Amino acid sequence: MCADCATPIRTYQYRFHPPESASYERCIGFFWCPECRVYQSQMVHVSRKLELVDVLGPLPEDERDRIRKPDHVLVAYLDSLARQGVTWEPRPAPPGLPGPPPDTDAPRRRKRGHRTAHRRWTGRPPRP
Ligand SMILES: [Zn+2]
Repeated sequence: MCADCATPIRTYQYRFHPPESASYERCIGFFWCPECRVYQSQMVHVSRKLELVDVLGPLPEDERDRIRKPDHVLVAYLDSLARQGVTWEPRPAPPGLPGPPPDTDAPRRRKRGHRTAHRRWTGRPPRP
């Protein structure tokens, strides 16, 4: 609720880290009052179990860039969508989304070593 006019606050969040990133859940959130036309943006935490709707997704690339750049243009655009009845409630993420990276490069480092020392051979040793 807006402290000044008691209108329900509108919100929008978007992700800017890829799903493979450990920072995937750190998102940009916008909060605004459609009456007072004031907005705020801040870092928000959104579980990776939720899929955020990218309302700019269907737009052509240059159109998206034009809207996204200054925050107030984005908020004005979002607010106009909301007035048309467009919603962007987060929904459960589909299964199979890549998780956060496992313990980064530890396994990769372990692979290197003295391979020759443990070289295997095929075939059975001759029996006496
Ligand atoms: Zn207000």
